[in-house]
Amino acid sequence: MSCYKMEFVWLGTGGAFTNRENEHGAAWNYQSNLVVRMWFVERDKPVNVLIDGGTTLIKALARAKISPLEIDYVFLTHLHSDHAGGLGELQLINYFVKQNHLDVVGCMHPTSKIDVSAQPVFIGVGNLTYDAWDKCWCGGNETLEGMKRPADIELFANVIALNEKEPVIRIGSVPNAKNGVEFMMFQTSHVSNSNMFAPSYGVKWTTPTGERVVFTGDTQNNPVQLKTAHFSSADIIFHDTQTTMVNGKPFKSGVHAHILELVETYKDQPQILEKINCYHYDDDAFSKHDPEKYGMQPFVIPYFKTQKGYKPTDDEKKSRIPFGEGNKWVFEVSRETRAKMLTRQEVELGQVAKEISDGLVEEVEPKVRDKTDTVVKVRKKK
Ligand SMILES: [Zn+2]
Ligand SMILES: [Zn+2]
Repeated sequence: MSCYKMEFVWLGTGGAFTNRENEHGAAWNYQSNLVVRMWFVERDKPVNVLIDGGTTLIKALARAKISPLEIDYVFLTHLHSDHAGGLGELQLINYFVKQNHLDVVGCMHPTSKIDVSAQPVFIGVGNLTYDAWDKCWCGGNETLEGMKRPADIELFANVIALNEKEPVIRIGSVPNAKNGVEFMMFQTSHVSNSNMFAPSYGVKWTTPTGERVVFTGDTQNNPVQLKTAHFSSADIIFHDTQTTMVNGKPFKSGVHAHILELVETYKDQPQILEKINCYHYDDDAFSKHDPEKYGMQPFVIPYFKTQKGYKPTDDEKKSRIPFGEGNKWVFEVSRETRAKMLTRQEVELGQVAKEISDGLVEEVEPKVRDKTDTVVKVRKKK
């Protein structure tokens, strides 16, 4: 891969009902949405990959100083409001701002020059993104003033429907993304009833320094599905967790693994437990649990709290909630490795340019509906 640096910007690490900004409470968080920022040797600006956008998305992006216009890719794990509820707003912002070539947007904080031409690429397994449009976003976004037809998702985003049998995509910085970072989605069991099974997915990828990362999305405690297939090969596991306690006993919602349930499940496998970083927790999680005492990693904390100058509330000062320690989720190759990547990339880019000029390949848009993955924007001519 030509990705030399990757950073995980946790916009929030709270559960679906996290209490956003409550200066009276110990917690101050947003929903569990993550930006994976990737720097490639061929581009100056990072590529921002958003995993889920809940109803707190726009505010949480502002707290992380990322403009909604800078989101290049969006992975959608499932349709709950804390994962999909803010993406309709993201679509409208991108559409109106880029359409009108505005470069200043009242409440936003563009941190760099915006590419006004590109709408974000939405990625989901099978028809998930189209389902999200039909069931979540369409109501607000399909009628646009003056437009003669109903708008559809493709007006707001480039949609990539991953092949259900092989939900893998490479995201890179050059048209043929052979050198990109591979992201794989995998199905999890989150919510079902007697006749319906709500689709939900986790995401797996590898950092430039070689750590294999598993992000569960939302899932029940499901060791058969997760342990063998994904957890054993991972180096870092981000697991959504329920942390609720009622009368001193764990409250199990049945849709998320309870933190104590994970401890029980993996008690004979400390090598898995010690890879688990819990997120998607209740606002009072820090007063209820200490994951390190359970043999796990500490709770993941939101990015904005790790930044210099963050002013904790009085309650946070009193509590054990960490802040202002710098973002630990940064993965960067050495200078020497990057120098080698740059040299190799010049050769590879030269080859692509030559193939285009020789008419061997043409550039195509990665826009597909009901088709499979393809982020490969350069296609060989017959
Ligand atoms: Zn959730
Ligand atoms: Zn959910």
